[in-house]
Amino acid sequence: MRQIQNHGACHMAANILLVEDEPAIQELIAVNLIRAGHQVMRANDAETALRLVREALPDLVLADWMLPGMNGVELARRLRAEERTRTVPIIMLTARSEEQDKVNGLESGADDYITKPFSPRELVARIKAVLRRQRPQATDDVVDVAGLRLDPSTHRVLAGDAPVNLGPTEFRLLHFLMTHPERVHSRAQLLDQVWGDHVFVEERTVDVHIRRLRSALEATQYDRLIQTVRGSGYRLSADAGAGVE
Ligand code: CA
Repeated sequence: MRQIQNHGACHMAANILLVEDEPAIQELIAVNLIRAGHQVMRANDAETALRLVREALPDLVLADWMLPGMNGVELARRLRAEERTRTVPIIMLTARSEEQDKVNGLESGADDYITKPFSPRELVARIKAVLRRQRPQATDDVVDVAGLRLDPSTHRVLAGDAPVNLGPTEFRLLHFLMTHPERVHSRAQLLDQVWGDHVFVEERTVDVHIRRLRSALEATQYDRLIQTVRGSGYRLSADAGAGVE
């Protein structure tokens, strides 16, 4: 998938699904999101959006309220109703400004709500705020767990003072685990979140990259942070790091 190839670069981008039926607005938004460093998947309607989501889980959905066929509110409800897509952040765009619509939008499960017309700068800032709250692995914020420090903007990992060299997939995997510590992630969830693809990539691919990640961390003993939870998946735990000197 596109996402896999692009992440070798130092910029950590979010994969944003833009659902907008008006071509000029879709283009304007897409250009600004790409300029802000994001990757954009486009859909002209909610049905297409749902199909794209089935193929690859986006970091965020930016959906117009008024769409032909299923509207943006119904799209948000559908995404919230399924376990796999329940936590995907949703920002709703609308030309309407009535308070009641805003309430409806938020009740449908949207995380934020932007009224047209809006400035590209405001849109990018709102996206960043939502990502920071809900998709920290899609931001440039430095993460530190038990002295293991990962900087997405420079693509560097330091174990104490020692630099750790990681391939792009191992870097993304570690970034996701570090931003979601102390929780068990199944292989399917990791494929969705790190690879953006749970359909075409085999689950044992996860094991291969976990092995590479551990091997890269081994010299600094930080490999202990990454735990295998039998029958469930993997977890990064700072507790395991207590023994790391
Ligand atoms: Ca529209």
